[in-house]
Amino acid sequence: MAQRVILNCDETTRIKLEQQGYHFVGTHRHSAVKTCLWLRKSLRGEGNCYKGKFYGISAHRCLQMTPSIFCNQRCIHCWRPLEAFNLNKERREAISWDSPEEIVEECIKEQKRLVSGFKGSPKTAPEVFSEANQPRHAAISLIGEPTLYPHLEELIEVFHAHGMTTFVVSNGTNPEMIRAINPTQLYISLNAPEERIYRKVARADYWNNILQSLEELSNKKGRTVVRVTCIEGLNMVNPEGYAELLMHAKPDFIEVKAYMHLGYSRKRLPRAAMPSAARVREFAAAITHYLNAHGSKCGTAYRMVDESEISRVVLITSSRSSQPTLIKVRDG
Ligand code: SF4
Repeated sequence: MAQRVILNCDETTRIKLEQQGYHFVGTHRHSAVKTCLWLRKSLRGEGNCYKGKFYGISAHRCLQMTPSIFCNQRCIHCWRPLEAFNLNKERREAISWDSPEEIVEECIKEQKRLVSGFKGSPKTAPEVFSEANQPRHAAISLIGEPTLYPHLEELIEVFHAHGMTTFVVSNGTNPEMIRAINPTQLYISLNAPEERIYRKVARADYWNNILQSLEELSNKKGRTVVRVTCIEGLNMVNPEGYAELLMHAKPDFIEVKAYMHLGYSRKRLPRAAMPSAARVREFAAAITHYLNAHGSKCGTAYRMVDESEISRVVLITSSRSSQPTLIKVRDG
């Protein structure tokens, strides 16, 4: 019989997560949806998130979800309760996975239910509410590692068949899946310039897989991004090492972003681990400097093109990329 359980997640943790706004969907409860602060702000006409500024995504039309609440790393900066969702190979093989069609349908249904509370709100324009009822973008990045879901390739295709764009954010531990999938924009997280620091940050053993995933990224036809999450006192070192790894990935975009002192990460890191916007800018500039020092050997230039101070994130783009910064999102 199929398992209808959240593996290794006790009832108290599940309730806590639900209280934090995670809504589990599907028969086997391994997928979840959550509305973010920026979606609510966007619905009230109070602003848009940095993905809007950098890439043209409207937060009120963005469906933030995961098909796998599980993860195979134990990152020190993770906002989630790691104990609850760590997944090894044996456990992964024991899971019954929902179909991509069921997940997409349930996610859209749940998102509509979640935004329904804004209907008639004096702060929400009727046309904005109506748009929010038709999500146009899936951010497959909410919690856990999406490449652990074995049907991720098909899941992305089902979202696209609904007229939606997709961003997938992966920790890079599964290079075969990175090779297989074709989202609108594919992210790999790179949180260390070398293995010794990777082990301290991710507390896992997948460094070689991540190097392979970075290589895979360089072969992708679609838009690619590497995201570096900066943790003061831990991984904001050796910008030249980051640049060397980034040159292998040849991403269209690089996001250098501050760790945010939120959720369960507050139990593992002090507030001082959250770098200021100025420190992130300085570190992004150092990485850009070394990218250009290396890039001159192979004809690629990188430059810092944008920044969101409130989210403490800097956007770097490659001159070799043919990708425009803003993506074409269908508004229909
Ligand atoms: S890879 Fe992402 S979800 Fe997994 S532990 Fe690290 S930060 Fe958390």
